[in-house]
Amino acid sequence: MEPQGWIAKAEPIAPPPDPIQLARVIRELLMALGEDPEREGLRRTPARVAKMLQEVLAGYWMDPVALINGAIFEVEDNDLVLVRDIEFYSMCEHHLLPFYGRVHVAYIPNGRIIGLSKIPRVVELFARRLQVQERMTRQIADFLEAVLHPQGVAVVVEAAHLCAMMRGVRKSHARMVTQALTGVFRTDPRHRSELLAHLRRPPEKII
Ligand code: ZN
Repeated sequence: MEPQGWIAKAEPIAPPPDPIQLARVIRELLMALGEDPEREGLRRTPARVAKMLQEVLAGYWMDPVALINGAIFEVEDNDLVLVRDIEFYSMCEHHLLPFYGRVHVAYIPNGRIIGLSKIPRVVELFARRLQVQERMTRQIADFLEAVLHPQGVAVVVEAAHLCAMMRGVRKSHARMVTQALTGVFRTDPRHRSELLAHLRRPPEKII
């Protein structure tokens, strides 16, 4: 079965940035910081940072169609699917510092499921961008909604934000939990409490 209707919703894929231009800008940043970009330790930093940015922001250039391709399957039993503790690393768009943690993805199918290994890839698609946690959470839910047309999707994200931790402001808010619910998770309290019961089990490892 081919996913229908969701390709139109997928964002256009941006071309990857020019690494030479990126490196030039990083070099200027070093100079603006009062550093000498020619000193031994910094000489290769602009090129390294350019390469690193292409990697950690790769979500802009990932092809969602290729990502999903061939991994949608028809099912008869529409039982809860839950993938817990998906590790992710993203970049806060306000401070260009990382935020990272875990994503829990649940859905109740409506005749179709997505291959299990694809769910962490969907998380990466949206995590590897300049983000705010709330939007990332919503985008993961909306994407699965559009691809699977399930009875409901629930995405819960727990993250630590280096911009809050390193700057020493409001440390108690440094770990944030966001959620996005659709369909029966929104309308039916039984599905919500079933999900919460699953999530209440302590993770094997704390962030
Ligand atoms: Zn921030």
